[in-house]
Amino acid sequence: MSANVDLRTFDLFNPTEEHSMLRQTIKDFVKAEVEPQALHHDRKELFNLPLFRKLGELGLLGITVPEEYSGSGMDALAAVIVHEELSYSDPGFCLAYLAHAMLAVNNFAFNASEVQKKSMLPKLCSGEWVGCMAMSEPHVGTDVMGMKATAVATGDHYILNGRKMWITNGTIDESGTPADFVLVYAITGEKNGRPQISSFVVEKDFVGYSVGQKIRDKSGMRASNTAELVFDNCKIPKTNLIGHEGDSMLHMMRNLEIERVTLAAMSLGIAKRSLDVMIRYAKEREAFGKPLNHFGQIQKYIADSYAEYKAAACYVYDTARKMDLTKEGQRVDSDGVKLVATTMGKNVADRAIQVLGGYGYVGEYVVERLWRDAKLLEIGGGTIEAHQKNITRDLSKHL
Ligand SMILES: Cc1cc2nc3c(=O)[nH]c(=O)nc-3n(C[C@H](O)[C@H](O)[C@H](O)COP(=O)(O)OP(=O)(O)OC[C@H]3O[C@@H](n4cnc5c(N)ncnc54)[C@H](O)[C@@H]3O)c2cc1C
Repeated sequence: MSANVDLRTFDLFNPTEEHSMLRQTIKDFVKAEVEPQALHHDRKELFNLPLFRKLGELGLLGITVPEEYSGSGMDALAAVIVHEELSYSDPGFCLAYLAHAMLAVNNFAFNASEVQKKSMLPKLCSGEWVGCMAMSEPHVGTDVMGMKATAVATGDHYILNGRKMWITNGTIDESGTPADFVLVYAITGEKNGRPQISSFVVEKDFVGYSVGQKIRDKSGMRASNTAELVFDNCKIPKTNLIGHEGDSMLHMMRNLEIERVTLAAMSLGIAKRSLDVMIRYAKEREAFGKPLNHFGQIQKYIADSYAEYKAAACYVYDTARKMDLTKEGQRVDSDGVKLVATTMGKNVADRAIQVLGGYGYVGEYVVERLWRDAKLLEIGGGTIEAHQKNITRDLSKHL
């Protein structure tokens, strides 16, 4: 950004021409390709793999990956634009995108070795490979340091044992085909009484890696697959260790920042769509001889939703603007934006259902799907209670 930027004309949401063009490209793609399939894939619990691969053609699967590794070399704000616009139509599909592009690919691109990046990123950026990230376990989510998966070095391999739970893109189709690339966290030792966490790339054909339970009948986010992954004496070549042994607590903390900001951006898309639906409906639908938008209670739903959406959007975009993907630095605010935006998104979708009355409760009118999807964003990538805990801890350090 230029030092002489005119703050009166500066657009926080599209700071450069490149950001505006990106937003328009996604809007066009969403209208033509994402919206027509969204309800069907939600109802049938189907991940749309061919559509996902089209995101590769648009350069979105490696949006933050430097161009020398086949990515688009864009910033965190660009990633926010993509997540907001995809979630305007299909948050479930967007979650599968986020699991690949943010949780797996962005993390790998900023922590892997030259050799690893050169060999794997082109396949991840094109969509030839679908990626996922495995941190949570059946008995451990928020308390991540309590993870049980272990990797033990033996000769030129590590032997990984453990189970990972709730993994988005853990399968890529109904028959349970595993993801091509799993970025998995495991304990490799202990230092000063604390577990040392390392991360590895597990590839689809590695011995001892399989898909466990497929999580069916989720309330929302049904257009993305969720599965348990099982590692039973899984043999990982040492060349698939990311960074050095014990480095990955830092990788995890840094990547959680972009994860939380883009999850918050998904809530912005949900809120914007819910607003558009309720504003239009309240203008057209009449009761007691007047359009609904003449009633004060309906006005409160619309106006509160607009103001809360706008406030959250300013916080999300301002935080994204300040992010440097190579460093930690927006820890408090990445928790903060997710805390504010996800509950806002859920509340706005809820009000939209209320404004539409009975129609709001039916799939064709979109907002009931958005409301179900919105709830997950208060849980995944950190629960709202975890954000409250983290923010209080971090703010207390400075006073
Ligand atoms: C659809 C879906 C997709 C997901 N995708 C992925 C993925 O791709 N990869 C991945 O690794 N994980 C994924 N997750 C897991 C997700 O990140 C966890 O569900 C989340 O971190 C919460 O962990 P948990 O479910 O174990 O809940 P728990 O940690 O057991 O929490 C249960 C409740 O206790 C509260 N709680 C816990 N500790 C505290 C505390 N100290 N103070 C106050 N309250 C507390 C929580 O806030 C929550 O309300 C996904 C989950 C879902 C549902």
